Amino acid sequence: MIEFELTQHDKKVLDDVRQEAVVCRQYARHYDENEHEFPPDELPEAGEFPTILQSMAGRGDDDTGMSVMAMLISMGQTWGDYSVRMRRGKGGLGNAALRAAGTPEQQEKWGGLTLAMAITEPGCGSDPSLVAMTAVLDEDTDEWVLNGEKIFVTTGCRAEGVVVWATIDRSAGRAGIKSFLIEKGTPGFILGQKEKKLGIRADDTAAYVFENCRIPRANLLGGKEEIPKAGSGGFKGVMKTFNMTRPAVAAIGLGMAEAALDFTREQLEATGVNFEYGPSVHGQSAVVQRFQELEATFEAATLTVLRAAWLADKGQPNNLESSICKAKGGSAVREITQGCIELLGPMGVSREHLLEKWFRDVRITDIYEGTGQIQNLIIARNILGYTRANLK
Ligand SMILES: Cc1cc2nc3c(=O)[nH]c(=O)nc-3n(C[C@H](O)[C@H](O)[C@H](O)COP(=O)(O)OP(=O)(O)OC[C@H]3O[C@@H](n4cnc5c(N)ncnc54)[C@H](O)[C@@H]3O)c2cc1C
Repeated sequence: MIEFELTQHDKKVLDDVRQEAVVCRQYARHYDENEHEFPPDELPEAGEFPTILQSMAGRGDDDTGMSVMAMLISMGQTWGDYSVRMRRGKGGLGNAALRAAGTPEQQEKWGGLTLAMAITEPGCGSDPSLVAMTAVLDEDTDEWVLNGEKIFVTTGCRAEGVVVWATIDRSAGRAGIKSFLIEKGTPGFILGQKEKKLGIRADDTAAYVFENCRIPRANLLGGKEEIPKAGSGGFKGVMKTFNMTRPAVAAIGLGMAEAALDFTREQLEATGVNFEYGPSVHGQSAVVQRFQELEATFEAATLTVLRAAWLADKGQPNNLESSICKAKGGSAVREITQGCIELLGPMGVSREHLLEKWFRDVRITDIYEGTGQIQNLIIARNILGYTRANLK
């Protein structure tokens, strides 16, 4: 059975999200201009709008699955503003890794902290098996000793801790890579520079250096110290992280793309463009036709996100679908925001409006958590039955 209808309760949740988004949007330009250099107490007060958790309370079995709802909520929030939404929220990508691979004790101990996720290094990006950061076990003290560098860590400054990828045995390749939980303030954990970025400017992105950073043995995420003999077992737990975060990244971009479409339609209507969809194609202006193409791209990309989330709600594998929606979403949001700028001309690039900001902010959708090219590789491997060695 295919069901596309939201229940009344779900609609109410999304209405609350929209109210919050409207408040957040008022702060969007301020945070874009000031980048991450602003005091957190300038953020909108939580009391200004209903919290999502309150709205979600009392949902029943008939309501839409949690993963699908999470995607719709993300879209609704970023329709308001990506950065303000990120700054208000607790939790980071590291929390998703903790949920996917942490032991019950680790979830209990670390679950309340905002955790960033640090994989990327100066010599390691799209291919995480090139991780050079090392973790060496000191049996005398029962501690891991970490050395290396991480760059482009989202929420790197604001996070209270981080999940870091490091190798415990370089000769073992991917299988030797493990994840470690490290709290801010641990000696040898140094916060490096903050990046100045094209978009999502209020959301801080930082570099870390680890110099003989000692952490308890129990901080190995998932607790499994052994190196699997064959395959890439060491990778599997944490790679699971991405099966819901890839759709989430696409959803975030699509929320901003929807904002761009809504703004563009409003402005065009104000100049007298008629958006009635009834007349035949011969009776339509080129502007309306182009706008409809952008809307169709938006709808198609959104459906791929909802499908990946729906599979997660059913407990079914969604690795392929997660990559499909990330690849499709990443290119769709660029096309949509650029298309909106083209339709509105000078208004599209003026900093008096947020459209140019959405155009900059959506660019990240196709970069972090696997670029579009890498998603396409994963899709091709899945469909053609190739391994990493067959298709690089
Ligand atoms: C704002 C921002 C936030 C980020 N946040 C995080 C974070 O929180 N944690 C984290 O660990 N990382 C983070 N990253 C890093 C991000 O995940 C990497 O930038 C991304 O994985 C690409 O790696 P790279 O930049 O080293 O590019 P490279 O791997 O050097 O790739 C360069 C280009 O080549 C393409 N390419 C690479 N290999 C192939 C191939 N086999 N076939 C075809 N094309 C290929 C890529 O698609 C890309 O276009 C962030 C990056 C940015 C910009």
